[in-house]
Amino acid sequence: MTDVILVLNAGSSSIKFRVFEVGTALQLVLRGQVDGLYTQARFRVYDQHGQALSPDPGTPSAPGETLGHEGGIAFISDFLRGHRDGYQVVAVGHRVVHGGDRFTTAVLATPEVVDELDKLSPLAPLHQPHNLKTIRVIHKRRPELPQVACFDTAFHRTQPAVAQAYALPASITELGVRRYGFHGLSYEYIASVLPDYAPAASKGRTVVAHLGNGASMCAMVGGKSMASTMGFTAVDGLPMGTRCGNLDPGVILYLIDQLGMDTRAVEDVIYRQSGLLGVSGLSSDMRELLVSADPRARAAVDLFVYRITRELGSLAAAMGGLDALVFTAGIGENAPPIRKSVADLVAWCGIELDAEANSKGGPCISTGQSRVGVWVIPTDEELMIARHTMALVR
Ligand code: ADP
Repeated sequence: MTDVILVLNAGSSSIKFRVFEVGTALQLVLRGQVDGLYTQARFRVYDQHGQALSPDPGTPSAPGETLGHEGGIAFISDFLRGHRDGYQVVAVGHRVVHGGDRFTTAVLATPEVVDELDKLSPLAPLHQPHNLKTIRVIHKRRPELPQVACFDTAFHRTQPAVAQAYALPASITELGVRRYGFHGLSYEYIASVLPDYAPAASKGRTVVAHLGNGASMCAMVGGKSMASTMGFTAVDGLPMGTRCGNLDPGVILYLIDQLGMDTRAVEDVIYRQSGLLGVSGLSSDMRELLVSADPRARAAVDLFVYRITRELGSLAAAMGGLDALVFTAGIGENAPPIRKSVADLVAWCGIELDAEANSKGGPCISTGQSRVGVWVIPTDEELMIARHTMALVR
């Protein structure tokens, strides 16, 4: 049996997992997911190189039979025990979307902590309940197994109070209505490796652009979060695959009063019908938009880039300057045209891109003369969770 740390990211209908061998370093050995929970479950698993495992480990439920979170966890556990010489899970690290203002770092997810985290479920109803349910399911199966909750919000708790506040009546702010910021595990990972890439800049003022299906940007000084484009929820800030990003709250009132939408209909518009998909009417996938000749695809890409450059100005202002810009996540790591368009629009702040380095993917994509260093750095949120888990169970 090989000792491993299991990292889980549970959603409403899927459980994504990664398996890290516990040795001198944390070595990724498997990744996969069970999706189609509560409908028709499907299991996919890949090795560390992204190759699908052969033979296929099978499907978790018979046709017509549904599987919930409990069944999904049981299937993953059985698979790991039976794979190769057997993987012995020594700890589980969970991505938990919300740690509120109390949890400023990863914690052991004891039943008391989970009950406390449940009080934050109204702040993240689409994610928090599923994250916590998975912790409870595992606790029921193996109460002695250490579980660690790692939060998307924790990294941002170093922000000054003014960066976390909304100008709302104090009685509403006291209920927890404030800017939390998300993608914290990604930013924390980038902060941990930035000194290897840019030792001087990592001590200074950096904007990290996490551009994936979900997208946000973070201002960091000396590796600590100072401001973020995401606020109370993960729908704020940049336009994303299907989320609208920053919106005048008056638009919401218009949708309700003039278009007769109820809460769920508004939620559907701002979370699932907007962003790249909504503007283009074609796709939420940046790859498809970049190769499309349709002017609506161009409009969606242009708006995405424009909003990034506006936010860059705002975040640089919050730090009083800018020393480095980092692109990460699916689009940030893989789309040279997006990086170039952003860089062209923010040349005013002293950014000069090296076209060849940009097309090759970096890691450094700015010229020697550029006043601001520009980098492409792959993120690894799951490794960050595994590191936190390891540190807490040791
Ligand atoms: P998630 O937020 O789901 O983790 P990812 O970080 O995987 O998302 O990013 C997904 C996005 O990255 C999609 O819009 C996808 O089109 C985009 N992407 C991935 N590869 C490329 C590429 N080579 N060129 C442009 N966009 C890409």
